[in-house]
Parts: sequence; structure tokens; C-alpha cells
Amino acid sequence: MQRRDDTPPVAIIGGGICGLTTALALERRGLTVEVYEAAAEYRPVGAGILLQTNALVAFEMLDVATEIRESGMPLSEVQIRSPNGQVLQAFDLDAEQDAFGHRYVAIHRAELLDILRRNTASPIHTGKRCTQVSDPANPTVRFADGTQIEPGILVGTDGIDSTVRDAVTTASKQSLGTTVFRAVTSVSLSEQHRTTGFEVWGNGTYTGGAPVGPDEFYWFATAPSELSATAAVDDIRAFFADYPAPVPAVGAAVTADELITTDLADLPPLDQWSRGATVLAGDAAHGMLPFAGQGAAQSIEDALALAAALGSHTSVADAFAAYECERISRANRVRTESHRLGRLGTMQSSFACRLRNTAVAALPEAVFKRFRRRRVANASVFPAEEPSGALSAPETPEERSV
Ligand SMILES: Cc1cc2nc3c(=O)[nH]c(=O)nc-3n(C[C@H](O)[C@H](O)[C@H](O)COP(=O)(O)OP(=O)(O)OC[C@H]3O[C@@H](n4cnc5c(N)ncnc54)[C@H](O)[C@@H]3O)c2cc1C
Repeated sequence: MQRRDDTPPVAIIGGGICGLTTALALERRGLTVEVYEAAAEYRPVGAGILLQTNALVAFEMLDVATEIRESGMPLSEVQIRSPNGQVLQAFDLDAEQDAFGHRYVAIHRAELLDILRRNTASPIHTGKRCTQVSDPANPTVRFADGTQIEPGILVGTDGIDSTVRDAVTTASKQSLGTTVFRAVTSVSLSEQHRTTGFEVWGNGTYTGGAPVGPDEFYWFATAPSELSATAAVDDIRAFFADYPAPVPAVGAAVTADELITTDLADLPPLDQWSRGATVLAGDAAHGMLPFAGQGAAQSIEDALALAAALGSHTSVADAFAAYECERISRANRVRTESHRLGRLGTMQSSFACRLRNTAVAALPEAVFKRFRRRRVANASVFPAEEPSGALSAPETPEERSV
């Protein structure tokens, strides 16, 4: 491919988790990168995020795992509970640490972006909203401020509503028809909740969260049919008042200013992430529902895989083919798993919710553990050799139904 001299060799559109991680990964491979972010500035707002073990394994390879762990909250356990507090399943993260050298970390999103920005040497241009990409083979990127660039390689990490994606495919997001409330709030937590993350598979709602700091908690809940997307914080608080601890305390602490409301959507599975010199990564390629807690982790895996492919192939076409081969089926599998969990987690019939919870409680612990471990063991960051925690046994029907 012919490179044009006066423009960056690699332009990344979107400076979120995937864009910044991709910049970091490409820099480590010696590529010259510039990032273009729509927001005028990075502000310390937003919700929390749970980074599962595969995300930490990938971040370790970029030398930022320690900083992330120290700024967030490494968890000792995650639980699935019923609305009356019964622990349906528990996932011990000390075992995860033994197997993979890492465990889940809950962190404020703004903190995570800050760490990635601090570690990225590439220029990050803010206030650069991409409005159009023409000719994906020799891309010209136009911005809302009237400027344009012509990079040698264009990476679209501009999220689920990606503009860059329009140059690659006609696919667009599909709504789940459910809203999620999220907040990070200051609350005094009992010892028991200081390092435990949890999900409550409730009646018509899926709620949960994790501590992101000693007295800071990241809480989320899908809106049950009783609450509209514009529900007042008092009504949300009242609905969750009888949920297991620490939900009522967290609800009581959340203020209207802290509440973020998002309509849930995902992309259909795409079979092509690139066209010409233009390639997609992160939510732009596989925006998924949050129920598997893997959207960011998959985006981070994309970043490493794309950098490895571009670093080891002289032809962009070969690099993109290797990247797509490495990533598409895995990301689509996780996306489909998250979609199924989303349908289960947001069921409204209380009879069906009780039936679902009985089934989850009845799952043998080993099956549940194996299913969750597989997400890490199959990570794209382990292409060559199996980590000590890798699980190679074929999936069982029980695992597939989780
Ligand atoms: C409710 C909820 C909870 C979640 N919880 C988890 C979790 O616990 N763990 C997990 O792993 N994942 C979670 N996810 C998924 C995770 O948030 C996403 O997968 C992840 O943020 C994707 O990163 P990204 O950089 O691809 O996209 P984004 O985070 O959407 O970032 C895209 C960036 O591009 C910028 N941008 C957008 N349009 C343009 C444009 N036209 N021009 C230039 N820049 C542009 C945006 O401003 C933004 O900075 C959750 C998602 C939701 C909705």
C-alpha cells in the first residue's frame, strides 16, 4: 500500500478505551499513530467498569496492569444472587489469580482513561468529530470542524455508533428495548462488600456492582417495567429498597447528578471488520450488551491482536486478514453469549425469573467456574501457548446453556 507522506501513518478515530489501548499497543510495535477524539476534553465523569481477567492479562502486556490495579479495586469474589440475597453462584477470584496471575479489577472509567492517556506517547487530538470517511482503500477522513486527514491506515474505534463503520459495512446497532441506570457513588461499605462484586438476578431487573475504591461503589441496574427511563432517583431508590445489601445503601447514596441512563443495544455479528486500509475495533466492530461484562475486555484484546498483526505483516491486507481471523469469531461468540444473558437477565415475568434462578443455583459450581474461566483461557492474548489456567475440554451442553 502507498503511504501519503504528510499524514499520520495510522489514524485512530475515537479515543475511548479501545482507541487509547490500540494507540498504546501500536506504539509498542514501533508504529506512528495519532488519535482523533470527538469530545472537546476528557472529563472525570462517567460510571465504573469491571475489567475481567483477560483484560488485565492484556494490559499486563502493555505494562499498565499494575497502575490499573492500584487505581481500582482488585476483587476477591463475584457472586450471582437472588433478590432475597441467596448466593446462587460464587466465583472465587483467588483461584483466577493462581491460574492466570490476574483477577478482576473494578475501576472508575475516567481513571482508566487517564491511565491509558498518561501512558500513550501518541498525539491525541480532542474536539475532532469524524463526520465521514470516503474511499476506505485510500481513506479521507472529514471532521466536523472542517478539517480532513488522509492516513495510510485508518482504525475506527469510535464506539457502537461508529461513523467509520459506514465505510466498511452497512450494519447498525439494534436495541434491546431496555434502559440501564448506572452511578458511581460514595458510600461506607461493610468489610464483606469491600472486595466483592455481585449481580442480582432480580424480578424484571438485573442489578449489581462492585467497589471501585475504599468508599466508592459502582452500581448498575436495568430498568424493570415499573420504572421508566426517566424515573426519578427517589423512585429507583424505592424500587431497590428491599434488595440485598449493599444495594439499598448504595441507592440511598446515589444523587440525581451521578445517575447515568443508557439504552442498551448491540450490533449484529459482523463477518467483516475491514475494507481496504480501514479497519474496525472495539464497540465499532462488536458492540455488545453488557451482561457478560466483556465489551471492554474484547476491545482490549482487539487492540493487541491488531498491533500484533500490523507489526508482523508487511502488507496491510495480510495484517487485516490475520487480525480478523484472530478476532471475529471470538468476539462474536462473546457477543452472542452476552445477548443471551441479556435476554435472561431482563425477563419481566416473575415466574420465569424464579425458574431461571432455580436453574442457575442448580448448576454445578465446576461447570459455572469452567464456563467463566474459558473466557480468559480463550483470550486472543494467548495465541501461541496455553496459560496454566487454560481449559481445553470441549464445551458441555450445560456450559452452553449458561
Ligand atoms: C451499561 C454498560 C456497562 C458496561 N460494563 C462493562 C464492564 O463492566 N466491563 C466491560 O468489559 N465492558 C463493559 N461495557 C462495555 C464497554 O463499555 C465497551 O465495550 C467499551 O467502552 C468499548 O470501548 P470503545 O473504545 O470501543 O468504545 P467507546 O467506549 O464507546 O469509545 C468510543 C470513543 O470514540 C469517541 N467517538 C465517538 N464517535 C466519534 C466520532 N464520530 N469521531 C471521533 N470520535 C468519536 C467517543 O467520544 C469515545 O471516546 C459496558 C457497557 C455498557 C453500556
